[in-house]
Formats: sequence, C-alpha cells, structure tokens
Amino acid sequence: MNLHEYQGKELLSSFGVRIQRGIVAQSADEAVEAAKKLTEETGTGWHVIKAQVHAGGRGKGGGVKLAKSLDDVKTLADQIIGMNLVTPQTSAEGKKVHQVLIAEDVYYPGDNEPEEYYMSVLLNRGTGKNMIMYSTEGGMDIEQVAEETPHLIFTEEVDPALGLLPFQARRVAFNLGLSGIAFKEMTKFVSALYTAYVKSDASLFEINPVLKTSDDKIMAVDSKVTLDDNALYRHKDLAELRDKREENPIEVEAGELGLNYVDLDGNVGCMVNGAGLAMATMDLIKQAGGEPANFLDVGGTADAARVEAAFKIILKDPNVKAILINIFGGIVRCDRVAQGVIDAYKNMGDAINVPIIVRLQGTNADIAKELIDGSGLDVQSAVEFQEAADKVQAVVG
Ligand code: GDP
Ligand code: MN
Repeated sequence: MNLHEYQGKELLSSFGVRIQRGIVAQSADEAVEAAKKLTEETGTGWHVIKAQVHAGGRGKGGGVKLAKSLDDVKTLADQIIGMNLVTPQTSAEGKKVHQVLIAEDVYYPGDNEPEEYYMSVLLNRGTGKNMIMYSTEGGMDIEQVAEETPHLIFTEEVDPALGLLPFQARRVAFNLGLSGIAFKEMTKFVSALYTAYVKSDASLFEINPVLKTSDDKIMAVDSKVTLDDNALYRHKDLAELRDKREENPIEVEAGELGLNYVDLDGNVGCMVNGAGLAMATMDLIKQAGGEPANFLDVGGTADAARVEAAFKIILKDPNVKAILINIFGGIVRCDRVAQGVIDAYKNMGDAINVPIIVRLQGTNADIAKELIDGSGLDVQSAVEFQEAADKVQAVVG
C-alpha cells in the first residue's frame, strides 16, 4: 500500500524526522486557509502547492508550483485540483488530482545555497539486510543518476538485529560532504528515518529531495512510502490512510470479494487457483502467442459463488476476448469446481459473452471433463495445458 506525500510526511514527523511543513486542502478556499495558518505557524511568506497523487515526477508534470502570494495560492490550487496530472510515472491519461498539499517554502535564501540530496530505505533481499541508499544528486531521477553517475550513489547496509549504529549515521553525513550543524542534523535525520521505516513495517521510504536549507537544517521535502500489506494488520491507523481513488477500481472491487486480481493489458482472461499456477498460466499463454488480461488467483475454494465473482471481475475488462480457467484439483475436487463453473455460467446468463476454455487437472478430473462436455454450454474443456492454450489462441487469434 502506498501513502500520499502528506501522509508519509506526517508519519515521518511522528518519528522525529524534520519535514517541510504543510496542510492538505481539497479546494482553493481550503488552500488559502491552509496557507494563512502555515504563515502563522512557520512565518513563511511563500508556499508550494503540491498535487497529491500516487506518482512521482509531479514537478515535471506541472503538479508542484510556487505561490508568492495568497492570490497565487488560490489560482494555483484551483488550477491543480481537478487536473489530470501526467508525469513520467503515470499513464498517458494521467492521474486525477483530488487534493493538494500547501507547504511552506523551504528554499529561502540565506548564508548558503539550499542543497538537495537523495535518500531511501529499503530491504536488500540479497543480503537480508535493510539498506540506506543515498546520494548528493537529489531532486532528480535516481534511475538516471544510477545510469550516468553510479559512483555518486552510496549504500549503507543495516543489520536489522543491530539497527542503525551511530558510526553508520555519521558515515552517511560524511559521504554527503556535510560538516558542522548540518552534519549533526543529518545523523539525526537518518536515524529517525530508519526508525520510521522499521516501526511502520514499510518496504520503502524514499525521500527525494532531502533538503539542506540555507541555514543548515536537514528536512524531507518529498516522501514516497510503501507499506508492507502483510503487516498492515498491526497498523490499523496506517491501514486507514489507504486512498482507493488512487488504485485500479477493478482491483479494489476484486480485493473486497477476496480475490487476488491484478489488471494487465492483454486479452485472455485468466481464472486460476493458486498464485504459482496463475503465474505459470500467464507464462504459457504468452508462449502460445497470447497476452494475459489479468492475474487472478481465486484461492482454494473455487465454488460457484467464487467462480461467479471471478467471472464478473474478469468481464469488467472490455479487452477480454476469451477466458481460460486453469484449476488444479488437489484438496478441492475437480468435479466440484466443474459444477461451480457450470452453475456460475448459468447464473450469469447472457453476461458471459466470450468463449470459455476450462482445464481441470487432479482429483476427479475425468468426471469434471464429462460434466463440462455434457453441460451444453459454450465451454470447451481441455486436459493438457498446451491443448488449453492452443484452444485459447484459436479463439483470440
Ligand atoms: P516530485 O516532482 O513528484 O518528486 O515532487 P517533489 O516534492 O520532489 O517536488 C519537486 C520539486 O519541487 C523539488 O525537487 C524542488 O525543486 C521543488 N520544491 C519543492 N518544495 C519546494 C519549496 O519549498 N520551494 C521551492 N522553491 N521549490 C520547492
Ligand atoms: Mn520528489
């Protein structure tokens, strides 16, 4: 699950990470109120208006603007709220902006120039350790930095049992070329950031940019936070931060039905039991020359109700030209699944308007095949996988 920038910043702040302060607003009027309040609290005269969508690169797409007056705040907030923001990380249609963050301007002039760094915390699966990645090259695409100047990216591996040790925090500050107050600030920043990552069971915290202000404060100007879905049960407060408007609506609906569904671009709908078999099925569809329209794991109990729910979800995708059902009957018997498919098909009536190919293997597969073949429905059965994939190809071309 991903958080919005403003939610990530609030989370960071609760762990003592210094952030660019801001208030979220749903309308231009709320934005002006937020700006006034921020001025009272922080003394800032200028504000940045930042689109809150789950995508990076907002600055490049016109979703981050500097307002030098309350009039600017109103105009810019009005412009950004409701726009379809297209960034290098969104599709061509972009993402609809429902809210903006009104933040204090932290790039104010002073003794030094403000400087931008990059920092992220994530799991290195290879070493089984947490990893702090950081760079002096902040504010730009880290992928580009990795490609063009990889020597400017540093990593600090942290043993999860020991936590971030003080010398490691100092090494980060040192490698970023800091000294004096900024050095101390950075060691505090890294430690608090690491704690926030661990305590919230995150899989990613990415702060780009981390800013050194003109008066040597270190703070998070942006935040990208991904939480581990499997740990959300112990973070009820964080789970509530989910913004379903940012997610694929069919995936949200499938999730509510207890189906594990991921929308894809192809035209062959897949209904499979078990995530591993679902992935293998997608591979085999591709090998036969097709493109899967989705990943769908119906789980262990493929009864009529679940099969029907799965049909409905798959058919919401207008690109689907055929549905391949690939079920392995281990604990669940194939004849029960076959009956489920037949019942669901009959219940759905005319709603099923694409050919269905069913392959059932395992316990009572022979009885299942007889049931399907004798059902009189427009459902083709297959025994071997290749046969099923070929039958699918024959109908989608
Ligand atoms: P992203 O484009 O989605 O990564 O959004 P960011 O939050 O990283 O903002 C993009 C850019 O806006 C930053 O790299 C900064 O250059 C600029 N920016 C953010 N906050 C401020 C601010 O307070 N003042 C000024 N002048 N620029 C800012
Ligand atoms: Mn950013």
